[in-house]
Amino acid sequence: MNSDRSAAQESSPGESASEPGRAVVLGAGIAGLLAARVLSEHFAEVLLVERDPLDADDPRRGVPQARHLHGLLDRGRTVLEQLYPGFTAELTELGAGTAEALVGTRWYLSGLRAAPTSTGLTSLMATRPVLESVIRRRTLATPGIGWCTGTARGLLGDAGEVTAVLLSDGSGIRPRAADLIVDATGRGSRAPQWLATLGACAPAEERLEVDLGYASALFPCADGQLDGHRSVIISTGAGGRGGGAIRVEGDRWHVTLAGMLGDHPPTDPAGFADFAATLAAPDIHRLITAAEPAGGWGRTARDQHTIVPHKFRAPVRRRFDRLPSVPRGFLVLGDALCSVNPLYAQGMTVAAQQALVLRDCLTAGAGADLPARFYTAASDVVDVAWRLSAGSDLANPGVTGPRTLRTRLTNAYVARAHRAAHLDPVVSRTFLRVANLVEPPAALLRPDLARRILWRRDGGTGPADAPAVAEPTG
Ligand SMILES: Cc1cc2nc3c(=O)[nH]c(=O)nc-3n(C[C@H](O)[C@H](O)[C@H](O)COP(=O)(O)OP(=O)(O)OC[C@H]3O[C@@H](n4cnc5c(N)ncnc54)[C@H](O)[C@@H]3O)c2cc1C
Repeated sequence: MNSDRSAAQESSPGESASEPGRAVVLGAGIAGLLAARVLSEHFAEVLLVERDPLDADDPRRGVPQARHLHGLLDRGRTVLEQLYPGFTAELTELGAGTAEALVGTRWYLSGLRAAPTSTGLTSLMATRPVLESVIRRRTLATPGIGWCTGTARGLLGDAGEVTAVLLSDGSGIRPRAADLIVDATGRGSRAPQWLATLGACAPAEERLEVDLGYASALFPCADGQLDGHRSVIISTGAGGRGGGAIRVEGDRWHVTLAGMLGDHPPTDPAGFADFAATLAAPDIHRLITAAEPAGGWGRTARDQHTIVPHKFRAPVRRRFDRLPSVPRGFLVLGDALCSVNPLYAQGMTVAAQQALVLRDCLTAGAGADLPARFYTAASDVVDVAWRLSAGSDLANPGVTGPRTLRTRLTNAYVARAHRAAHLDPVVSRTFLRVANLVEPPAALLRPDLARRILWRRDGGTGPADAPAVAEPTG
C-alpha cells in the first residue's frame, strides 16, 4: 500500500461512493503525518496525499520554513514519544542532541539570562528535515497507511457533507472519495474557499500583523563553545530582535536570527553578523563569527553556503470552532487551523496536541458530528498557544491588535517574571515549563510564584528592579 502511485490514477473519473473506512489526509507535513498515525487506529485505509515527492530528507519545496530553526517543545516531544515509542532515541542515533533545558541550554528573556536550574524538560535538537524524516518513516511504516503524490484542488459534496477531494497530479484532476478528508496543507490552506464553493460556512480569521523576518544558516561547531551548552535562545525583546542557535546533527550550529515589523535580518554574511551583534546577549554573535557558514542545506549549488531568508507576515487562526455548522466528512488541523508566531516554537507541538485530540474524538465515535467535536476540543489546546503567542506579540508596542486590560496586565506581569527568572531558579523553572506547554500559564500565578515574581527574594519589593544586563557568557 505504501506506494507512489498517483491517487488520480487510482480513482476513476466521476467516482463518488467511498469505500467504507477510508480516510484521506491532505499534506504530509508534521500535522498530516501525525493525523494519519492516529486515523490508522480507526480507519481501515489512510491515504496521505502530498504535492512534494517524499523521498528526500532535504528541505522540501512545500515546507520552506524547514531551513529555519525548529525547536521542539518538551510537550510536543512527549506526545511524539507516545505516538512513536523510541522517537527521541531514534533521533539521537541520527546525531540529534538532547539536554535538560536550563542545565544544558541557556535562555535570555528580555535580555536577562534565565537562572540555570533543573527543569525536568528535555530539549531535543535536530533540524526540521531530520525530525520530519523520522516521523514520516514511522508513519509510513504503520499498517494501513499509504501515500501518493498529488495536489488537492477542491472538495466535492454540499454544505452538509464532503464526499471527495479533487486531486491533480499533472495529468488531470480527478475526485478521490473518502469517509473522512483531513486538510493538513499548512497555513496556505484553501479550505475556507473550498467550503464556500460548496455553500458551507467559511470560518472567520483572526490575525496579528507582525511582519516577521527570519534568516538562518548552519555553522560548524568547535569544542568549548557556549561552555558546552547545546543551545541558546535570545527571546525577542522590546526592539523586536531575537535569535537562537541549537547544536544539531552533523555537529553544526543551526542559527536563526529574527526581526519583527519589517526589521528583517540581512542574508549577506557581514549584515547577518552585524544583526547578531545587536541582540541582547553576545552568545550568537560569538558563534557565527567563529567560523564561516557550513552550508549543506540541499542538493543544489544555490543551497550551499547561503544564509536563507523567510518572511512570515501574520499568525492566523481560523475559527472553525465558532461556525454554526460544519459539513460532515471534513476537518482541518495543524497550521491550516492555527498558525502561531514561529518565534515561540509552538507549531509542531500544537499539531501533536491536535493529533491526540483527534484520537480522543475518534475514540468517542466517528459519526457525523466528529468535525464539530474536534474543533471544540482542539480550541482548548489552540487557545493556550494562541494566547501565549499573541500576548507576547502585543507586548511589542508596534504590533497593532486588541490590547485588553487583561493583555496589558498579563504583559506587565510577564515582564516582571522575566526579571525574576533571572534571579530566582524557581521562577525560571516554572517559566520554562509554561513556555514548553508542560504546565498551564496559570502555574505562574500560583501564590508562591506570584510572591517570588512580585516581591522578589533579593529584597526588592513592588516593581522589579533587577539591573537589565546580560550575564557574561562563554
Ligand atoms: C519560519 C518558521 C519557523 C518555525 N519554527 C518552529 C519551531 O521552532 N518550532 C515549532 O514547533 N514550529 C515551528 N514552526 C511551525 C511549524 O513549521 C508548523 O507549525 C508545523 O510544521 C505544522 O505544520 P503543518 O504540518 O500543519 O504544515 P506544513 O508543515 O506547512 O506542511 C503542509 C504540507 O502540506 C503540503 N501541501 C500544501 N498544499 C497542498 C495541496 N494543495 N495538496 C497536497 N499537499 C499540499 C505541503 O507540501 C506540506 O508538506 C515554524 C514555522 C515557520 C514558518
